[in-house]
Amino acid sequence: MILIDGSQGEGGGQVLRTALALSILTGKPFRIDAIRARRSNPGLRRQHLAAVKAAAEISAADVRGAALESSRLDFAPGPVKPGAYRFAVGTAGSATLVLQTVLPPLLAAKSPSELTLEGGTHNPMAPPFDFLALAFLPLLERMGARVDAKLERHGFFPAGGGRVTVKIEPPERLQPLALLERGNFKRRRARALVAKLPEGIAARELSVVKRRLGWSKDELHAETIADSAGPGNAVLLELEYEHLTEVFAAFGERGRKAEDVAHAAAEEAETYLKFEAPVGEHLADQLLIPLALAGQGEFRTVQPSGHTRTNIETIARFLEVPIRAEPAADRTWMVRVG
Ligand code: AMP
Repeated sequence: MILIDGSQGEGGGQVLRTALALSILTGKPFRIDAIRARRSNPGLRRQHLAAVKAAAEISAADVRGAALESSRLDFAPGPVKPGAYRFAVGTAGSATLVLQTVLPPLLAAKSPSELTLEGGTHNPMAPPFDFLALAFLPLLERMGARVDAKLERHGFFPAGGGRVTVKIEPPERLQPLALLERGNFKRRRARALVAKLPEGIAARELSVVKRRLGWSKDELHAETIADSAGPGNAVLLELEYEHLTEVFAAFGERGRKAEDVAHAAAEEAETYLKFEAPVGEHLADQLLIPLALAGQGEFRTVQPSGHTRTNIETIARFLEVPIRAEPAADRTWMVRVG
């Protein structure tokens, strides 16, 4: 049994999710201790429990310790079973992070799957649906997978209640990906989503984007969301290039000024625009598993985050594929797999 120290590196939920995904993929059982020990609310929260249950369901796993606040989990999977599943987080916990857990094994399955994921779709500290649809999945598609994700209903923190449906058509084998340049700039778009809150919020946020980033009026879009269970607000900045699209996000919350939300998203976009690396911070940690499954690949990115470094270490516990991150020209980094 592989022993994982959940407090290593980033010490958050990603160590657990990566271990679950790769355990199913390799058939290797694992035990994780000190789950999310570096978070202020350590142990399994509802969102992580939902990920554990989803992983157990698609692999008929033997599981011990799957309870709220548990700090230890034993997980022994069977073979992956593609099919139709519904996974509900039950709170605003991120539905996209549950997908992050089950997608890699279902991509390696012999037949398609159809998932319904319920929970948060636009949460702080998790990939918003738009990042998934515009940035991450098109790259998987380039690697040979067909993953079609639809946002059926928005879910914001704290009410949740969002819904995403995902159709997964696994490839024969994931193909390597090389992502060294952005390619020509094509388009940019700022979207301010406002649900069950005064519409003036979107206008204030977009005017910050206009002033700070100098984007033009027809690149700014205010969207009123009527389908969510509760109030919510997100600023999404999309940068589309020939070889990829990046999406930067920030989220409104009670007591946080609209201007601050917009500045936070704009700052992330600004940092990305300062360098020439195509792969931004979040995309970097999320591309590692697909590339490791392909057995080969490389990308140029920004300085690796704690999530990226920790994910490299966790992947190495299950797979023999070497992954190296090294500084490259112009303050960018190269990540090489295989
Ligand atoms: P953890 O904090 O360990 O639960 O992991 C959070 C995961 O969500 C990591 O894979 C992050 O890259 C991802 N993530 C967090 N914020 C964003 C964002 N704004 N856009 C895309 N992915 C994100």
